[in-house]
Order: sequence, then C-alpha cells, then structure tokens
Amino acid sequence: MSLVCSHCSKSIRVTKVEQHRGEGLAAQIRCYHCEAWLGKSARVAKVKMISFYLVVALAVLGYSWEEYRTLSIIGAILAGMTLLVSHFMDHLFTVEAPEQKDNSDELRKYR
Ligand SMILES: [Zn+2]
Repeated sequence: MSLVCSHCSKSIRVTKVEQHRGEGLAAQIRCYHCEAWLGKSARVAKVKMISFYLVVALAVLGYSWEEYRTLSIIGAILAGMTLLVSHFMDHLFTVEAPEQKDNSDELRKYR
C-alpha cells in the first residue's frame, strides 16, 4: 500500500514510514521525504463508516420487509452515494508542514 504525500506530492510506502502519532481515526504519519505530518480527516472517515453500515442495514431491511422495499432501496442508493463521495474525499492532508530549514523568519525578526 502506498500513499501520496499532500505536502511534497511524493509517494510514501506505508511500510517505510517510521514515525506515527495518534491512534485510530486520528492517526497521523510523518512523510520521510519532507518530514511533514500527514493525517486523514476523522470526520470523513466517520461519515464513510456510518454510510457503509446504513447501506447494509437498508439492504437487510428491504430484503426482509417487502412493504419498505422501495423506500429502503432509495435510502440505500443515497447512502451508497454518500459512501462514494466520502471515499473520494478520504485522502491525506498536511497536518503540520515541515519546519523550515533556513532561518529567514529569524532574520526578518532582527532586521
Ligand atoms: Zn512529503
């Protein structure tokens, strides 16, 4: 599995990532190219999980109760679309940009 760093756009091999922090949905990894901290949106991950279970629940409901079938199919389609959208939105973003190597900020301060 490989990811693309949202900061330097280089591909990252998950197995080569050495620095991690946080747990579960809020877990972050550090890019070994540019040293930026990268994370996934916990909110998107939550929406993704909820819509997935909603699709499953509605499919079961529609299968079991014939009178709710049309309604549950419509609901399942909507939940499925939410799942798809959240899946595309579920990518890495830069949590913390790497520290600047040069000290231009320092110099500006004392000018
Ligand atoms: Zn990077």
